[in-house]
Amino acid sequence: MLIVMKSGAAEQEIAAVVKVVEQLGYRSHVMPGATRTAIGITGNPGAVDPARFENLAGVAEAIRVSKPYKLITLDLQPDKTVVRVGDAMIGGDELAVIAGPCAIESRAQAFAVAATVQRSGARFFRGGAFKPRSSPYEFPGLGEEGLKILANVREEFGLKIVTEALDVAGVDLVEQYGDVIQIGARNMQNFSLLRRAGRSKLPVLLKRGMAATLDEWLLAAEYVMSEGNYQVILCERGVRTFALHTRNTLDLAAVPAVRRISHLPVVIDASHAAGKNYMVAPLARAGVAAGADGVLVEVHNDPKSALCDAAQALTLGEYEEMLSQLRAIREVVAP
Ligand code: PEP
Ligand code: MN
Repeated sequence: MLIVMKSGAAEQEIAAVVKVVEQLGYRSHVMPGATRTAIGITGNPGAVDPARFENLAGVAEAIRVSKPYKLITLDLQPDKTVVRVGDAMIGGDELAVIAGPCAIESRAQAFAVAATVQRSGARFFRGGAFKPRSSPYEFPGLGEEGLKILANVREEFGLKIVTEALDVAGVDLVEQYGDVIQIGARNMQNFSLLRRAGRSKLPVLLKRGMAATLDEWLLAAEYVMSEGNYQVILCERGVRTFALHTRNTLDLAAVPAVRRISHLPVVIDASHAAGKNYMVAPLARAGVAAGADGVLVEVHNDPKSALCDAAQALTLGEYEEMLSQLRAIREVVAP
């Protein structure tokens, strides 16, 4: 059920609707918009009778939701979500850039990359402290030590930190040191992790699972939102196909497909899609041309010695060159 309030509905009228929802034992999600406020209802085991709401003061419409998702939709919130971290934004007018190494390896490495990321005008620094490696014998990240380095990067360079939580305990740690919780492709359907992130005050960057349909991905975002965290960024990072010339196949169509259904911002991760350095810039350019709100990109001060995802890392120079191209493309396709 979705309750659409009349434009200009009073705060007390909204509060009265919320009270009825709670009396019924359900959860309300108030989404203020530019022209009207909508209230999503979750936690109802069956259909809710619209008559219960239609006659309340300030209510324009009570609509039954037939789709599997309720909170991610443009029906609930026609205005795009702008995720804000301090004065930095994802989903706003500016192309959001989330750049940094795959893994935090040392303070010197993180600082060397961060200096370039800061100079480029990007506002977000990425880097994993807990790495979901395919093999248990590969570098797993520095753990909390890595998070401390990231917190130093934030202090020193004023960049906002995006870093992955691999599990529920990891969310506690990311909350301590970071600004945005990344949920990786492998964890997209880790429902206890999604729920925990949904109870966080930090925004969540949700990667698409490597074999997830659009609906499964959007429903994963719905898990986070259903717990009350509406600051979700969707990240397309390529899906598994039969193609052998690339690590994953970047699903560019995901950008307009998400746009048609959801108010959530969507960013393109060309690095994990490509898996190869030379493909990253062309795919990122295509992502921006397709209307992505931002890009996530792996960059390293010395790619050949990178402990994780070395083959796809851009050099500092390649990164800077790519960024100027992305900004030029953005000028043309600006939302
Ligand atoms: C990453 O961003 O470093 C990462 C592990 O990505 P993904 O979950 O998309 O593989
Ligand atoms: Mn990586």
